[in-house]
Amino acid sequence: MFGKKNQHIVVAGMGQGGMVAAIYLGKAGFDVDIYEKAKEGEVSHPWTDDTMTAVFKRCGIPMPPKEAYSQKNNWLWVSPGVDRRLMFPGTAPGVEISVDRHMLSDHFAKLATEAGCKVHYETPVKGLLTDGDRIIGIELQNGKRVKADLVIDALGIDSVLRPQAPKKWEIQAHEADDDLMLGYRQFYKRNPGYVPPEYPDYRACMYLKHLGGAGLSWCNLSPDNNMDMLIGRLYGMTKDEMEVMQKDLFKRHADQLTDEVVIPGRFVKIGTRYSLSKIVADGYALVGDSAFMSIPLTGCGIESSMDAGVYLSETIIANKGKEMTAKNLWPYQVKYFKKKAGLFAAIDVLKRWVLNLDGDLVDWVFYKVASPKIVESISGMMFRGMNPIVGVWNILSSLPFSLARLFSKPSILKEIGVTLKAAVHALLVAMKIPKKYDEDKIHQWVMDYEASFPHKK
Ligand SMILES: Cc1cc2nc3c(=O)[nH]c(=O)nc-3n(C[C@H](O)[C@H](O)[C@H](O)COP(=O)(O)OP(=O)(O)OC[C@H]3O[C@@H](n4cnc5c(N)ncnc54)[C@H](O)[C@@H]3O)c2cc1C
Repeated sequence: MFGKKNQHIVVAGMGQGGMVAAIYLGKAGFDVDIYEKAKEGEVSHPWTDDTMTAVFKRCGIPMPPKEAYSQKNNWLWVSPGVDRRLMFPGTAPGVEISVDRHMLSDHFAKLATEAGCKVHYETPVKGLLTDGDRIIGIELQNGKRVKADLVIDALGIDSVLRPQAPKKWEIQAHEADDDLMLGYRQFYKRNPGYVPPEYPDYRACMYLKHLGGAGLSWCNLSPDNNMDMLIGRLYGMTKDEMEVMQKDLFKRHADQLTDEVVIPGRFVKIGTRYSLSKIVADGYALVGDSAFMSIPLTGCGIESSMDAGVYLSETIIANKGKEMTAKNLWPYQVKYFKKKAGLFAAIDVLKRWVLNLDGDLVDWVFYKVASPKIVESISGMMFRGMNPIVGVWNILSSLPFSLARLFSKPSILKEIGVTLKAAVHALLVAMKIPKKYDEDKIHQWVMDYEASFPHKK
């Protein structure tokens, strides 16, 4: 099939990375078909998520229409013992937005269609077509078989295709329990009597290790003035456990919330792990959540999938007319690891440590080390016109006390040292990805990379 003028690319799922790649490939003269299970206008989650605006410029993709987004809230972090709140400095206005996910998907679909791609809605993908170890297309749930020179898997975290990749490619089929956070997200009508604060601060509370469990919960006044509530737990949670945390948030935010549900709750999986060690095979490439391309814990999956979509399309376009083998697609994986996955690997190690820390210890750090004076002075200077002389004075006067308290617990200092060393090690291993395609060297590197992450037994 290769060598034809118009190579056929199948994009499975309308994930952002797949859509960015599709737009570039369509423009470059590839024959692109996109298969999405959702209806037109209902693709992705029925809510807004946050992303940096710079990614659109960097990826050469126009911003979505103005009605699709608004300024992101700044987050107030709350310690597990709950009465200590720290407002972490957010970004300046316009730098980060909350974007409507349905409208963002519509925006990508419009650009892809203009680039000559065909979008097939309500067409679920079922499986991979293979010829030996090579992927040669997909099978749709309606029974149709679609041949392709390359299948791009942009199906998200529950990709049905990933577990079907031939074993030779070492593409991890199933994740471990601590690779995912199970989240329950529901939106409520805001109490009409509640007056939101003048500043965007203090509208969004992030509860670290909420009620002591490994995870986080949030209550956030969403851009449409509803209350967005999320409860997230590593290693999963039962419905009863979720309801206990839900009740707790209701108590804490009684002045803001009504019990009228505006977007019904749903359980969702959120990837909180390092990126997959193999993201290419003969005739197959993964992009976005299907390859765990988000910062462990803090997210930003929209941004990193879009960036990865550009790296993938650059590699495909550079190989136009050639067979889409793992070897030819390898520069995509190398670029993704150098630019993104190395850093995510280090963050993964830190995340595993933080989420398994004792709640009392996190409280201690909030109370004794993370001085509100420092945090509030930084955000005050950034957002509320605090006099820089006052701000800098506050920081300098509080810093010695924070450091002295940290040094008063040598066991923690030792643990921090060990964890930082492991994080740097993971970063260095990830960055040592072989530049040239050599199966033996890549296999050894995959083993070293996987060994960098201390999974909880
Ligand atoms: C609660 C929650 C909050 C989040 N908050 C943020 C945030 O604030 N900022 C941020 O950057 N990221 C956030 N994320 C992560 C973000 O959603 C993803 O990282 C990002 O969308 C990249 O995922 P993706 O594009 O690869 O896949 P997805 O966005 O999951 O897209 C996959 C697509 O494939 C389709 N699909 C799935 N299976 C099939 C099938 N069999 N056949 C056909 N189509 C199929 C789906 O319908 C979907 O359209 C959040 C995620 C969750 C769950």
